[in-house]
Amino acid sequence: MAPRYDAVVVGAGFGGMGAGIQLDRLGLHDYVILERESDLGGTWHVNRYPGLAVDIASVTYSYSFEPNPNWSRLFAPGAELKKYADHVADKYGLRERMRFGTSVDSARWDAEHQCWVVTVAGGETLTARYLLTATGFLSQPYTPPFPGIETFAGKIIHTTAWDDTYDLTDRRVAIIGTGATSVQLVPEVADRARELTVFQRTPIWVVPKVDMPIPPAVQRLFARVPITQKAARLANTTALEALMVIGVLHYKQAKPLNKAAALLAKAHLRAQVRDKRTREQLTPDYDFGCKRPTFSNRYFATFNEPHVRLETGGIERIEPDGIVTATGAKTEIDTLVLATGFNLWDVNFPAIEIIGRDGVNLGKFWRDNRFQAYEGITVPKFPNFLSLNSPYSYSGLSYFTTIEAQMKHMARLFGELARRGETTFEVSARANTEFLDRVTGKLGSSVFYGGDCATARSYYFNQHGEAALLRPTSTVNAHREAVRFPLDDYLYGRAG
Ligand code: NAP
Repeated sequence: MAPRYDAVVVGAGFGGMGAGIQLDRLGLHDYVILERESDLGGTWHVNRYPGLAVDIASVTYSYSFEPNPNWSRLFAPGAELKKYADHVADKYGLRERMRFGTSVDSARWDAEHQCWVVTVAGGETLTARYLLTATGFLSQPYTPPFPGIETFAGKIIHTTAWDDTYDLTDRRVAIIGTGATSVQLVPEVADRARELTVFQRTPIWVVPKVDMPIPPAVQRLFARVPITQKAARLANTTALEALMVIGVLHYKQAKPLNKAAALLAKAHLRAQVRDKRTREQLTPDYDFGCKRPTFSNRYFATFNEPHVRLETGGIERIEPDGIVTATGAKTEIDTLVLATGFNLWDVNFPAIEIIGRDGVNLGKFWRDNRFQAYEGITVPKFPNFLSLNSPYSYSGLSYFTTIEAQMKHMARLFGELARRGETTFEVSARANTEFLDRVTGKLGSSVFYGGDCATARSYYFNQHGEAALLRPTSTVNAHREAVRFPLDDYLYGRAG
Protein backbone atom coordinates (compact mmCIF):
# COMPACT_ATOMS: atom_id res chain seq x y z
CA MET A 1 0.00 0.00 0.00
CA ALA A 2 1.47 3.36 -1.01
CA PRO A 3 0.73 6.23 1.35
CA ARG A 4 -1.73 8.86 0.16
CA TYR A 5 0.64 11.81 0.62
CA ASP A 6 4.35 12.46 0.30
CA ALA A 7 4.09 14.36 3.55
CA VAL A 8 1.75 15.57 6.25
CA VAL A 9 2.77 18.86 7.88
CA VAL A 10 1.08 19.70 11.17
CA GLY A 11 0.73 23.45 11.75
CA ALA A 12 0.17 26.34 9.33
CA GLY A 13 2.31 28.94 11.10
CA PHE A 14 5.61 30.25 9.75
CA GLY A 15 7.36 26.96 10.64
CA GLY A 16 4.87 24.77 8.76
CA MET A 17 4.85 27.18 5.82
CA GLY A 18 8.67 27.10 5.62
CA ALA A 19 8.51 23.30 5.64
CA GLY A 20 5.93 23.37 2.83
CA ILE A 21 8.06 25.71 0.72
CA GLN A 22 11.03 23.40 1.19
CA LEU A 23 9.04 20.26 0.33
CA ASP A 24 8.07 21.91 -2.96
CA ARG A 25 11.69 22.83 -3.66
CA LEU A 26 12.62 19.18 -3.06
CA GLY A 27 10.00 17.96 -5.51
CA LEU A 28 7.72 16.52 -2.82
CA HIS A 29 4.64 18.35 -4.02
CA ASP A 30 1.93 16.05 -2.73
CA TYR A 31 1.60 17.25 0.84
CA VAL A 32 -1.10 18.58 3.10
CA ILE A 33 -0.78 21.09 5.95
CA LEU A 34 -3.20 20.36 8.79
CA GLU A 35 -4.14 23.27 11.05
CA ARG A 36 -6.43 23.16 14.09
CA GLU A 37 -7.25 26.89 13.84
CA SER A 38 -9.62 28.45 11.32
CA ASP A 39 -6.86 30.26 9.43
CA LEU A 40 -3.10 30.29 8.79
CA GLY A 41 -0.41 32.27 10.59
CA GLY A 42 0.01 30.35 13.86
CA THR A 43 0.90 32.76 16.65
CA TRP A 44 0.02 35.71 14.43
CA HIS A 45 -3.46 34.39 13.76
CA VAL A 46 -4.18 33.38 17.35
CA ASN A 47 -2.77 36.42 19.16
CA ARG A 48 -4.73 39.60 18.51
CA TYR A 49 -4.52 41.45 21.82
CA PRO A 50 -4.05 45.25 21.80
CA GLY A 51 -0.39 46.26 21.60
CA LEU A 52 0.72 43.04 19.87
CA ALA A 53 3.90 43.61 17.87
CA VAL A 54 7.10 41.72 17.08
CA ASP A 55 9.94 42.08 19.53
CA ILE A 56 12.58 41.26 16.92
CA ALA A 57 12.98 43.94 14.23
CA SER A 58 10.92 43.03 11.19
CA VAL A 59 13.81 43.06 8.71
CA THR A 60 15.06 39.99 10.61
CA TYR A 61 11.72 38.53 11.70
CA SER A 62 10.77 37.35 8.20
CA TYR A 63 12.02 34.78 5.67
CA SER A 64 15.38 35.85 4.19
CA PHE A 65 14.17 34.69 0.77
CA GLU A 66 10.93 36.68 1.02
CA PRO A 67 11.76 40.17 2.27
CA ASN A 68 8.87 42.53 2.84
CA PRO A 69 9.72 46.15 2.03
CA ASN A 70 6.37 47.35 3.38
CA TRP A 71 6.83 46.98 7.15
CA SER A 72 5.37 50.15 8.64
CA ARG A 73 7.67 50.21 11.68
CA LEU A 74 11.00 48.76 12.79
CA PHE A 75 8.93 46.44 14.99
CA ALA A 76 5.81 45.70 12.96
CA PRO A 77 2.43 45.35 14.67
CA GLY A 78 0.91 41.85 14.85
CA ALA A 79 -1.65 42.48 12.08
CA GLU A 80 1.18 43.10 9.58
CA LEU A 81 2.72 39.73 10.46
CA LYS A 82 -0.60 38.05 9.73
CA LYS A 83 -0.79 39.91 6.41
CA TYR A 84 2.77 38.82 5.59
CA ALA A 85 1.85 35.19 6.40
CA ASP A 86 -1.13 35.45 4.02
CA HIS A 87 1.12 36.89 1.31
CA VAL A 88 3.67 34.07 1.67
CA ALA A 89 0.94 31.40 1.66
CA ASP A 90 -0.54 32.81 -1.55
CA LYS A 91 2.75 33.45 -3.33
CA TYR A 92 4.13 29.96 -2.63
CA GLY A 93 0.87 28.12 -3.30
CA LEU A 94 0.57 26.93 0.30
CA ARG A 95 -3.00 27.93 1.04
CA GLU A 96 -4.53 25.29 -1.22
CA ARG A 97 -2.54 22.64 0.65
CA MET A 98 -3.94 23.72 4.01
CA ARG A 99 -6.88 22.16 5.82
CA PHE A 100 -8.18 24.40 8.58
CA GLY A 101 -10.20 23.37 11.61
CA THR A 102 -8.38 20.04 11.44
CA SER A 103 -7.01 19.03 14.79
CA VAL A 104 -4.53 16.17 14.74
CA ASP A 105 -4.99 13.65 17.55
CA SER A 106 -2.11 11.30 16.89
CA ALA A 107 0.40 9.96 14.40
CA ARG A 108 1.68 6.39 14.31
CA TRP A 109 4.51 4.87 12.29
CA ASP A 110 3.24 1.93 10.27
CA ALA A 111 6.28 -0.33 10.02
CA GLU A 112 4.66 -2.70 7.56
CA HIS A 113 3.90 -0.01 5.01
CA GLN A 114 6.74 2.29 6.06
CA CYS A 115 4.54 5.34 6.38
CA TRP A 116 2.86 7.56 8.95
CA VAL A 117 -0.81 7.13 9.81
CA VAL A 118 -2.18 10.44 11.05
CA THR A 119 -5.51 10.49 12.86
CA VAL A 120 -7.47 13.74 13.05
CA ALA A 121 -10.32 14.63 15.40
CA GLY A 122 -13.42 12.83 14.23
CA GLY A 123 -11.46 9.70 13.38
CA GLU A 124 -10.36 10.33 9.77
CA THR A 125 -6.92 8.91 8.99
CA LEU A 126 -4.37 10.14 6.47
CA THR A 127 -1.25 8.27 5.38
CA ALA A 128 2.01 9.91 4.39
CA ARG A 129 5.61 8.88 3.71
CA TYR A 130 6.92 11.74 5.88
CA LEU A 131 5.57 13.53 8.94
CA LEU A 132 6.64 17.06 9.85
CA THR A 133 5.32 18.69 13.01
CA ALA A 134 5.46 22.49 13.19
CA THR A 135 3.21 22.99 16.17
CA GLY A 136 5.13 25.90 17.68
CA PHE A 137 6.67 26.39 21.09
CA LEU A 138 4.16 28.84 22.53
CA SER A 139 0.95 27.34 21.24
CA GLN A 140 -0.72 25.64 24.21
CA PRO A 141 -2.27 28.47 26.29
CA TYR A 142 -1.93 28.10 30.03
CA THR A 143 -4.62 29.02 32.56
CA PRO A 144 -3.45 28.47 36.13
CA PRO A 145 -5.93 26.54 38.28
CA PHE A 146 -6.77 29.50 40.56
CA PRO A 147 -9.27 28.33 43.19
CA GLY A 148 -12.70 29.81 42.48
CA ILE A 149 -11.94 30.96 38.91
CA GLU A 150 -15.07 29.16 37.71
CA THR A 151 -17.20 31.33 40.04
CA PHE A 152 -16.00 34.63 38.53
CA ALA A 153 -19.09 36.50 37.36
CA GLY A 154 -17.38 39.00 35.05
CA LYS A 155 -15.55 38.56 31.75
CA ILE A 156 -12.45 36.33 31.52
CA ILE A 157 -10.14 36.79 28.52
CA HIS A 158 -6.97 34.82 27.88
CA THR A 159 -4.59 36.86 25.74
CA THR A 160 -4.58 34.10 23.09
CA ALA A 161 -8.36 34.44 22.68
CA TRP A 162 -8.81 38.19 22.64
CA ASP A 163 -12.43 39.33 22.30
CA ASP A 164 -12.40 42.35 19.97
CA THR A 165 -16.07 42.99 20.66
CA TYR A 166 -15.52 43.50 24.39
CA ASP A 167 -15.19 47.16 25.31
CA LEU A 168 -12.75 47.83 28.15
CA THR A 169 -13.90 51.41 28.62
CA ASP A 170 -14.86 52.11 32.22
CA ARG A 171 -14.03 48.56 33.32
CA ARG A 172 -12.21 47.52 36.48
CA VAL A 173 -9.63 45.19 35.02
CA ALA A 174 -7.06 42.79 36.47
CA ILE A 175 -4.22 41.46 34.34
CA ILE A 176 -2.52 38.39 35.78
CA GLY A 177 1.02 37.82 34.55
CA THR A 178 3.95 40.05 33.65
CA GLY A 179 5.61 38.26 30.74
CA ALA A 180 6.27 39.68 27.26
CA THR A 181 2.56 39.62 26.43
CA SER A 182 1.63 41.63 29.51
CA VAL A 183 4.41 44.14 28.85
CA GLN A 184 2.76 44.93 25.50
CA LEU A 185 -0.80 44.77 26.79
CA VAL A 186 -0.65 46.70 30.09
CA PRO A 187 -0.24 50.23 28.59
CA GLU A 188 -3.04 49.57 26.10
CA VAL A 189 -5.49 48.37 28.75
CA ALA A 190 -4.51 51.26 31.01
CA ASP A 191 -5.49 53.65 28.20
CA ARG A 192 -9.02 52.24 28.16
CA ALA A 193 -9.92 50.91 31.63
CA ARG A 194 -11.22 52.85 34.65
CA GLU A 195 -9.02 50.84 37.03
CA LEU A 196 -6.22 48.41 36.25
CA THR A 197 -4.50 46.09 38.72
CA VAL A 198 -1.53 44.12 37.44
CA PHE A 199 -0.87 40.92 39.40
CA GLN A 200 2.83 40.17 39.29
CA ARG A 201 4.44 37.02 40.67
CA THR A 202 7.87 37.45 39.09
CA PRO A 203 9.11 40.79 37.69
CA ILE A 204 10.60 40.85 34.20
CA TRP A 205 13.62 42.64 32.77
CA VAL A 206 12.48 45.38 30.40
CA VAL A 207 14.85 47.41 28.22
CA PRO A 208 13.98 50.40 26.00
CA LYS A 209 12.55 49.61 22.59
CA VAL A 210 14.25 51.49 19.77
CA ASP A 211 11.23 51.62 17.51
CA MET A 212 10.03 54.09 14.89
CA PRO A 213 7.92 54.25 11.74
CA ILE A 214 9.75 53.30 8.54
CA PRO A 215 9.33 56.33 6.24
CA PRO A 216 7.77 55.66 2.80
CA ALA A 217 11.05 56.73 1.14
CA VAL A 218 12.89 53.92 2.97
CA GLN A 219 10.15 51.43 2.06
CA ARG A 220 10.55 52.45 -1.60
CA LEU A 221 14.33 52.08 -1.31
CA PHE A 222 13.92 48.56 0.17
CA ALA A 223 11.56 47.64 -2.69
CA ARG A 224 13.71 49.07 -5.50
CA VAL A 225 17.15 48.19 -4.15
CA PRO A 226 16.64 44.98 -2.13
CA ILE A 227 20.30 44.85 -1.13
CA THR A 228 19.67 47.82 1.18
CA GLN A 229 17.11 45.82 3.16
CA LYS A 230 19.47 42.85 3.14
CA ALA A 231 22.18 45.06 4.65
CA ALA A 232 19.74 46.27 7.34
CA ARG A 233 18.85 42.65 8.07
CA LEU A 234 22.49 41.66 8.34
CA ALA A 235 23.27 44.51 10.74
CA ASN A 236 20.30 43.73 12.96
CA THR A 237 20.84 39.98 12.90
CA THR A 238 24.49 40.46 13.83
CA ALA A 239 23.51 42.62 16.83
CA LEU A 240 21.00 40.00 18.00
CA GLU A 241 23.56 37.26 17.52
CA ALA A 242 26.08 39.15 19.66
CA LEU A 243 23.47 39.67 22.38
CA MET A 244 22.55 36.00 22.43
CA VAL A 245 25.98 34.43 22.02
CA ILE A 246 27.94 36.76 24.27
CA GLY A 247 25.30 37.81 26.79
CA VAL A 248 23.44 34.53 27.23
CA LEU A 249 25.41 31.56 25.91
CA HIS A 250 28.87 32.78 27.00
CA TYR A 251 27.69 34.34 30.22
CA LYS A 252 30.63 32.87 32.16
CA GLN A 253 33.19 34.47 29.86
CA ALA A 254 31.32 37.77 29.36
CA LYS A 255 29.52 38.50 32.62
CA PRO A 256 30.11 42.30 32.37
CA LEU A 257 28.04 42.50 29.18
CA ASN A 258 25.16 40.66 30.80
CA LYS A 259 25.42 42.92 33.86
CA ALA A 260 25.43 45.99 31.57
CA ALA A 261 22.12 44.89 30.07
CA ALA A 262 20.66 44.60 33.58
CA LEU A 263 21.99 48.08 34.44
CA LEU A 264 20.35 49.48 31.31
CA ALA A 265 17.02 47.94 32.34
CA LYS A 266 17.40 49.34 35.87
CA ALA A 267 18.22 52.83 34.52
CA HIS A 268 15.14 52.57 32.28
CA LEU A 269 13.03 51.69 35.32
CA ARG A 270 14.47 54.56 37.37
CA ALA A 271 13.79 57.03 34.57
CA GLN A 272 10.19 55.90 34.19
CA VAL A 273 8.80 55.05 37.64
CA ARG A 274 8.56 57.72 40.33
CA ASP A 275 7.60 55.56 43.32
CA LYS A 276 10.57 53.85 44.99
CA ARG A 277 8.59 50.91 46.34
CA THR A 278 7.02 50.22 42.93
CA ARG A 279 10.50 50.36 41.38
CA GLU A 280 11.73 47.80 43.89
CA GLN A 281 8.78 45.54 43.17
CA LEU A 282 9.44 45.78 39.43
CA THR A 283 13.13 44.87 39.79
CA PRO A 284 13.97 41.22 39.06
CA ASP A 285 16.28 39.36 41.45
CA TYR A 286 17.52 36.90 38.83
CA ASP A 287 20.09 37.43 36.09
CA PHE A 288 19.25 39.11 32.81
CA GLY A 289 18.67 36.46 30.14
CA CYS A 290 17.35 33.70 32.44
CA LYS A 291 13.96 34.59 31.00
CA ARG A 292 13.36 36.10 27.60
CA PRO A 293 13.88 39.85 28.21
CA THR A 294 11.32 42.29 26.90
CA PHE A 295 11.33 45.69 25.21
CA SER A 296 8.96 48.55 25.97
CA ASN A 297 9.00 52.32 26.31
CA ARG A 298 5.59 52.45 27.98
CA TYR A 299 5.23 49.47 30.34
CA PHE A 300 7.04 50.87 33.40
CA ALA A 301 5.61 54.38 33.02
CA THR A 302 2.08 52.98 33.13
CA PHE A 303 2.53 52.29 36.85
CA ASN A 304 2.74 56.05 37.51
CA GLU A 305 -0.85 56.49 36.44
CA PRO A 306 -3.30 57.02 39.32
CA HIS A 307 -5.74 54.33 38.14
CA VAL A 308 -3.04 51.66 37.72
CA ARG A 309 -1.76 49.52 40.59
CA LEU A 310 0.86 46.79 40.86
CA GLU A 311 -0.16 43.91 43.13
CA THR A 312 2.57 41.53 44.21
CA GLY A 313 0.66 39.53 46.81
CA GLY A 314 0.17 35.91 45.81
CA ILE A 315 -3.27 35.05 44.47
CA GLU A 316 -5.20 33.00 47.07
CA ARG A 317 -8.53 32.66 45.26
CA ILE A 318 -10.89 34.24 42.80
CA GLU A 319 -14.38 35.24 43.89
CA PRO A 320 -17.35 36.20 41.69
CA ASP A 321 -16.38 39.89 41.88
CA GLY A 322 -12.66 39.96 42.58
CA ILE A 323 -9.28 38.51 43.42
CA VAL A 324 -8.17 37.77 46.98
CA THR A 325 -4.46 37.65 47.80
CA ALA A 326 -2.70 35.69 50.56
CA THR A 327 -2.97 38.66 52.94
CA GLY A 328 -6.77 38.59 52.58
CA ALA A 329 -6.84 41.82 50.56
CA LYS A 330 -9.47 41.83 47.83
CA THR A 331 -9.32 43.67 44.52
CA GLU A 332 -12.77 44.12 43.07
CA ILE A 333 -12.88 43.70 39.30
CA ASP A 334 -15.31 43.01 36.48
CA THR A 335 -12.77 41.90 33.88
CA LEU A 336 -10.03 39.30 34.32
CA VAL A 337 -7.29 39.17 31.70
CA LEU A 338 -5.08 36.09 31.84
CA ALA A 339 -1.65 36.96 30.44
CA THR A 340 -0.45 33.70 31.93
CA GLY A 341 1.40 32.37 28.92
CA PHE A 342 1.81 28.86 27.63
CA ASN A 343 2.47 25.36 28.82
CA LEU A 344 5.59 24.14 27.07
CA TRP A 345 6.90 21.19 28.95
CA ASP A 346 3.80 19.28 30.04
CA VAL A 347 1.73 19.36 26.88
CA ASN A 348 3.80 20.84 24.08
CA PHE A 349 6.69 18.41 23.59
CA PRO A 350 5.13 16.95 21.50
CA ALA A 351 1.80 18.71 20.99
CA ILE A 352 0.19 15.51 19.64
CA GLU A 353 0.64 11.84 20.44
CA ILE A 354 3.40 10.44 18.24
CA ILE A 355 4.16 6.71 18.21
CA GLY A 356 7.31 5.65 16.40
CA ARG A 357 9.03 2.38 15.64
CA ASP A 358 8.52 -0.47 18.15
CA GLY A 359 5.59 1.44 19.69
CA VAL A 360 7.81 4.11 21.26
CA ASN A 361 5.74 7.09 22.43
CA LEU A 362 7.67 10.34 21.84
CA GLY A 363 6.20 12.19 24.80
CA LYS A 364 6.95 9.31 27.14
CA PHE A 365 10.43 8.85 25.67
CA TRP A 366 11.24 12.52 26.29
CA ARG A 367 9.83 12.46 29.82
CA ASP A 368 11.33 9.13 30.90
CA ASN A 369 14.72 9.96 29.43
CA ARG A 370 15.90 13.46 28.68
CA PHE A 371 14.37 15.93 26.26
CA GLN A 372 16.49 15.53 23.14
CA ALA A 373 16.51 15.70 19.35
CA TYR A 374 19.43 15.40 16.95
CA GLU A 375 20.15 18.89 15.58
CA GLY A 376 16.82 19.82 17.20
CA ILE A 377 14.93 18.03 14.44
CA THR A 378 15.06 14.19 14.45
CA VAL A 379 14.78 11.44 17.07
CA PRO A 380 15.95 7.79 16.97
CA LYS A 381 13.13 5.29 16.52
CA PHE A 382 11.04 7.90 14.70
CA PRO A 383 11.70 7.21 11.01
CA ASN A 384 10.72 9.75 8.36
CA PHE A 385 9.77 12.23 11.08
CA LEU A 386 10.93 15.82 11.40
CA SER A 387 10.00 17.48 14.68
CA LEU A 388 10.50 21.13 13.84
CA ASN A 389 9.76 22.35 17.36
CA SER A 390 12.01 20.14 19.38
CA PRO A 391 14.12 20.53 22.47
CA TYR A 392 17.41 22.29 21.59
CA SER A 393 16.05 23.47 18.24
CA TYR A 394 15.42 27.19 18.86
CA SER A 395 18.49 28.97 17.60
CA GLY A 396 19.13 32.67 18.15
CA LEU A 397 16.38 35.15 18.92
CA SER A 398 14.34 35.28 15.70
CA TYR A 399 12.27 32.16 15.04
CA PHE A 400 13.03 32.54 11.32
CA THR A 401 16.67 31.67 12.00
CA THR A 402 15.51 28.31 13.33
CA ILE A 403 13.02 27.76 10.50
CA GLU A 404 15.61 28.42 7.81
CA ALA A 405 18.28 26.24 9.48
CA GLN A 406 15.74 23.42 9.51
CA MET A 407 14.86 24.02 5.86
CA LYS A 408 18.57 23.59 5.10
CA HIS A 409 18.67 20.38 7.15
CA MET A 410 15.69 19.11 5.13
CA ALA A 411 17.46 19.92 1.86
CA ARG A 412 20.60 17.99 2.84
CA LEU A 413 18.69 15.01 4.23
CA PHE A 414 16.16 14.64 1.42
CA GLY A 415 18.89 15.37 -1.14
CA GLU A 416 20.85 12.39 0.18
CA LEU A 417 17.74 10.20 0.13
CA ALA A 418 17.17 11.10 -3.51
CA ARG A 419 20.84 10.52 -4.39
CA ARG A 420 20.65 7.05 -2.88
CA GLY A 421 17.23 6.34 -4.36
CA GLU A 422 15.93 5.56 -0.86
CA THR A 423 12.72 6.62 0.83
CA THR A 424 13.21 6.16 4.57
CA PHE A 425 15.58 7.76 7.06
CA GLU A 426 16.17 7.51 10.77
CA VAL A 427 18.80 9.25 12.84
CA SER A 428 21.22 6.89 14.56
CA ALA A 429 21.16 6.61 18.34
CA ARG A 430 24.91 7.32 18.36
CA ALA A 431 24.56 10.63 16.47
CA ASN A 432 21.68 11.67 18.69
CA THR A 433 23.59 10.94 21.90
CA GLU A 434 26.67 12.77 20.65
CA PHE A 435 24.56 15.83 19.80
CA LEU A 436 22.87 15.77 23.21
CA ASP A 437 26.22 15.49 25.00
CA ARG A 438 27.61 18.35 22.94
CA VAL A 439 24.75 20.78 23.55
CA THR A 440 24.36 19.98 27.22
CA GLY A 441 28.13 20.39 27.63
CA LYS A 442 27.94 23.86 26.07
CA LEU A 443 25.12 24.92 28.37
CA GLY A 444 27.58 24.98 31.25
CA SER A 445 28.87 28.38 30.04
CA SER A 446 25.41 29.87 29.64
CA VAL A 447 23.51 32.16 31.95
CA PHE A 448 21.10 29.28 32.54
CA TYR A 449 23.65 27.29 34.54
CA GLY A 450 26.38 29.85 35.23
CA GLY A 451 24.04 32.65 36.29
CA ASP A 452 21.47 33.03 39.01
CA CYS A 453 18.18 31.85 37.53
CA ALA A 454 16.70 30.21 40.64
CA THR A 455 13.82 32.67 41.02
CA ALA A 456 13.19 33.38 37.34
CA ARG A 457 10.45 30.76 36.74
CA SER A 458 11.59 30.73 33.14
CA TYR A 459 9.99 28.56 30.48
CA TYR A 460 13.49 28.02 29.09
CA PHE A 461 13.77 25.36 31.83
CA ASN A 462 11.86 22.08 31.81
CA GLN A 463 10.36 20.22 34.76
CA HIS A 464 13.75 18.64 35.53
CA GLY A 465 15.48 22.02 35.71
CA GLU A 466 17.24 21.54 32.35
CA ALA A 467 17.44 24.48 29.95
CA ALA A 468 16.44 22.22 27.07
CA LEU A 469 14.68 24.73 24.82
CA LEU A 470 17.39 26.83 23.18
CA ARG A 471 20.20 25.45 21.08
CA PRO A 472 23.29 26.74 22.90
CA THR A 473 25.33 27.57 19.80
CA SER A 474 25.52 30.55 17.50
CA THR A 475 23.02 30.69 14.64
CA VAL A 476 25.99 30.69 12.26
CA ASN A 477 27.00 27.35 13.77
CA ALA A 478 23.44 26.01 13.52
CA HIS A 479 23.24 26.95 9.84
CA ARG A 480 26.71 25.53 9.15
CA GLU A 481 25.77 22.21 10.75
CA ALA A 482 22.49 22.12 8.82
CA VAL A 483 24.41 22.01 5.55
CA ARG A 484 27.34 19.91 6.76
CA PHE A 485 26.09 17.33 9.25
CA PRO A 486 27.65 13.90 8.55
CA LEU A 487 25.34 12.06 6.20
CA ASP A 488 26.06 8.80 7.98
CA ASP A 489 24.40 10.19 11.10
CA TYR A 490 21.29 8.83 9.42
CA LEU A 491 20.33 5.28 8.43
CA TYR A 492 18.61 5.07 5.07
CA GLY A 493 16.29 2.48 3.59
CA ARG A 494 13.67 1.81 0.98
CA ALA A 495 9.99 1.27 1.63
CA GLY A 496 8.80 -2.10 0.40
P1 NAP B 1 5.08 34.09 29.93
O1 NAP B 1 6.34 34.78 29.61
O2 NAP B 1 5.13 32.65 30.22
O3 NAP B 1 4.40 34.87 31.13
C1 NAP B 1 3.32 34.34 31.83
C2 NAP B 1 3.08 35.20 33.04
O4 NAP B 1 2.00 34.63 33.78
C3 NAP B 1 4.28 35.25 33.97
O5 NAP B 1 4.44 36.53 34.48
C4 NAP B 1 3.88 34.26 35.04
O6 NAP B 1 4.48 34.51 36.30
C5 NAP B 1 2.40 34.51 35.13
N1 NAP B 1 1.76 33.37 35.79
C6 NAP B 1 1.65 32.10 35.34
N2 NAP B 1 1.04 31.34 36.26
C7 NAP B 1 0.76 32.14 37.32
C8 NAP B 1 0.15 31.93 38.57
N3 NAP B 1 -0.29 30.73 38.93
N4 NAP B 1 0.03 32.99 39.40
C9 NAP B 1 0.49 34.20 39.04
N5 NAP B 1 1.09 34.47 37.87
C10 NAP B 1 1.22 33.44 37.01
O7 NAP B 1 4.01 34.26 28.73
P2 NAP B 1 3.83 35.46 27.73
O8 NAP B 1 3.91 36.77 28.40
O9 NAP B 1 2.60 35.15 26.95
O10 NAP B 1 5.08 35.37 26.80
C11 NAP B 1 5.55 34.12 26.32
C12 NAP B 1 6.54 34.33 25.23
O11 NAP B 1 5.83 34.68 24.05
C13 NAP B 1 7.54 35.44 25.38
O12 NAP B 1 8.63 35.13 26.16
C14 NAP B 1 7.95 35.69 23.96
O13 NAP B 1 8.91 34.76 23.56
C15 NAP B 1 6.66 35.44 23.24
N6 NAP B 1 6.01 36.70 23.01
C16 NAP B 1 6.50 37.43 21.99
C17 NAP B 1 5.93 38.60 21.70
C18 NAP B 1 6.44 39.34 20.56
O14 NAP B 1 7.40 39.04 19.98
N7 NAP B 1 5.80 40.32 20.16
C19 NAP B 1 4.87 39.10 22.46
C20 NAP B 1 4.39 38.34 23.48
C21 NAP B 1 4.96 37.14 23.73
P3 NAP B 1 5.86 33.79 36.69
O15 NAP B 1 6.89 34.47 35.86
O16 NAP B 1 5.98 34.00 38.13
O17 NAP B 1 5.69 32.33 36.31
